[in-house]
Amino acid sequence: GERSLVNVPEAIETVLALIQHKLGVRIEVVRDFAGRPEVHCTPALLNQVVMNILGNAADAMPEGGTIRVSTQSTDDTDLIRISDTGPGIPETLREKIFEPFFTTKPVGSGTGLGLAIAYSVVQAHSGSLTVESAPGGGACFVIGIPRQAA
Ligand code: ADP
Ligand code: MG
Repeated sequence: GERSLVNVPEAIETVLALIQHKLGVRIEVVRDFAGRPEVHCTPALLNQVVMNILGNAADAMPEGGTIRVSTQSTDDTDLIRISDTGPGIPETLREKIFEPFFTTKPVGSGTGLGLAIAYSVVQAHSGSLTVESAPGGGACFVIGIPRQAA
């Protein structure tokens, strides 16, 4: 798709509105947009990546919890962090989750494609997608987009 300058906080709000039914009143969303607001990318693809990660965060917290979305910029990279207060991802699964069709969800409820798609989109932007533990043990996905994406 065509790349342009995309306003990240606006894209995140768009996706949050689209998945509001999955968040309900149980999940609180905390925003901390401290990074450069605009990144160079394909708008629909950024939405897809953020949607897949936020959807997983909601799935991980059926009893409710907190999703933190933050942006931060370094000299050459714009970062989007999405963390949750769910059970987190065991170290042994942290590479597998990016493989197509890997899912721990019941048959019919997860395709196992969300993170594989997110990973390839980020790669197509010469960026990075990693997962770490959030403080407290939940999952924290970090999207890194180079300032001058190839
Ligand atoms: P799906 O959501 O269809 O299972 P994904 O590719 O989106 O496929 O995610 C793959 C797997 O990664 C999930 O089944 C789950 O085991 C794990 N996962 C992804 N995000 C989270 C998260 N925020 N917390 C815990 N586990 C997660
Ligand atoms: Mg998913």
